[in-house]
Amino acid sequence: MVVGAGIIGCAIAREITRYLPDVVVLDKENDVACGASKANNAEVHSGIGEDAGTLKQKLNVRGNRMYDEFVAGLGVDFRRQGLLIVVTPRSVPPEVAEKMGPEELDELLRVKIPEGIVAYGKAAGIEGLRILNREEVLAREPNVTPEAVSGVFDPHYGLVCPYKLTIALAEHAVINGARVILNTEVTGIRVEDGEVRGVITNRGEIATGLVINAAGVFADEVAEMAGAGGFRIHPRKGATLLFDRQVTSEYVRSSVALFRMPGMKKERSKGGGAMPTVEGNLQLGPTAVEVEDKYDTSISAEEIEEIFERFHYLLPNFPKEAVISAFSGVRAPTHEEDFVIEASERVRGFVNVAGIQSPGLASAPAIVEMVMGFLHELGIPREPRPDFDPIRPTTPRFAELDDRERDSLIRKDPRWGNIVCRCEYVTEAEVLAAIHSLVPATDMDGVKRRTRTGMGRCQGGFCGHRVAAILARELGIPVTEVTKSGGGSPLYLGENKEFLQPGRSGHA
Ligand SMILES: Cc1cc2nc3c(=O)[nH]c(=O)nc-3n(C[C@H](O)[C@H](O)[C@H](O)COP(=O)(O)OP(=O)(O)OC[C@H]3O[C@@H](n4cnc5c(N)ncnc54)[C@H](O)[C@@H]3O)c2cc1C
Repeated sequence: MVVGAGIIGCAIAREITRYLPDVVVLDKENDVACGASKANNAEVHSGIGEDAGTLKQKLNVRGNRMYDEFVAGLGVDFRRQGLLIVVTPRSVPPEVAEKMGPEELDELLRVKIPEGIVAYGKAAGIEGLRILNREEVLAREPNVTPEAVSGVFDPHYGLVCPYKLTIALAEHAVINGARVILNTEVTGIRVEDGEVRGVITNRGEIATGLVINAAGVFADEVAEMAGAGGFRIHPRKGATLLFDRQVTSEYVRSSVALFRMPGMKKERSKGGGAMPTVEGNLQLGPTAVEVEDKYDTSISAEEIEEIFERFHYLLPNFPKEAVISAFSGVRAPTHEEDFVIEASERVRGFVNVAGIQSPGLASAPAIVEMVMGFLHELGIPREPRPDFDPIRPTTPRFAELDDRERDSLIRKDPRWGNIVCRCEYVTEAEVLAAIHSLVPATDMDGVKRRTRTGMGRCQGGFCGHRVAAILARELGIPVTEVTKSGGGSPLYLGENKEFLQPGRSGHA
């Protein structure tokens, strides 16, 4: 039994089905990928930004190498766009720079820092980093600050859509026998004689001898339920700005980050940067703010200004007016700032996969590999099933088809010809496929994550009520019961002028 249907829980469940069809994934939300796995920067880091000697770095380096194989057969886009680390005079603290003569500073920025980055990567097992001079930096990324002195290009960095990957892993697990049970919150773990015996939920108890705790920011609380804790998670929020892909699809070719010497960063995170998404939107961010509330995904005007200010130096001409959205997610760091992946010594059958802050997405394949080591010890067979299906069938993306392919689909089913979302060119047939998929979308955000409705410039202004009407029709509910993202997020408060009708009262 896996607690938590984020990227980690779903990836572990999919892997278990290679050996055993009998696996259940539980999540308290009404869809998979509702935690950090839907609100991150989609980067498959190489490990260059992680502290040496940490489990995070080790699993990140290995996970990055495993990614092509990890996504094979899932029908999810993955590409290695690389990372450009830019070195400028601001890479060095002013108090250090002040003590240097101009030649010494120039040597530091042009030679010593880039060489240091390459050596740091090599020590972590990251080969193939390339030092670039100023001209090469600006030729690669013309929008980067003209103050660039040198740079390092890391070709291993990749991009993947994190929620599409999570959905794909969940569906692939279901194809191979898993069950994904949503709207089910784990409230206790039954432990008897030092062994896991069951999971207690808000909808009843389920017997099991094996629990994998992949509960994200709540993993410390779930571990405590079993008496298998000992670590605390302090939520750290990160906000990101998202730009219109029609404007920014070619703004940066690779991810771009400003190098800052160790000790210069105020926040405990990699420091962020400018990143494209697989779909071509520019992202700027994320911030790193300690918060009390594990559900705090608010974004303040100050945070947005902070992002603008921070990245204005690195990319002086970025198209501020093309921001279409901002989102934030909550990281799950422990006080030790490292992953906690262990089979509990106190409670047999309980496995913690906790503290999975960034680079959790990038490390996922290696995290799964490590967890499977424990699970085989705990009784999951080591021999793969001969009937494991390696392929997850996918729905075509109308926007990506040529005219002949579109015509052929429309002839078979005219709903392929009904464009629901004009910005992203999404058809009714795609929305229907999302609602009737193996892990079905049941609200507006669920449809959006699967099809991109509402992700364009108008942010749902055109398609919102069309998608709501399709959801209502297919789910057999009144449109007033359609939600944005599950309970407590109604789209409509009532019928038009309802409160003016005789005998009806309402709020002024
Ligand atoms: C702003 C930001 C940017 C990031 N950028 C990157 C990046 O570019 N690259 C990268 O590698 N990583 C990145 N990360 C980190 C990455 O998002 C996480 O490491 C990863 O998503 C963690 O996945 P998870 O499955 O452990 O957690 P989650 O996705 O949070 O899933 C945990 C699930 O457990 C469920 N759950 C919790 N408690 C219970 C309970 N009691 N009962 C039932 N269900 C429960 C939750 O509902 C949730 O669905 C970023 C994170 C943030 C916040």
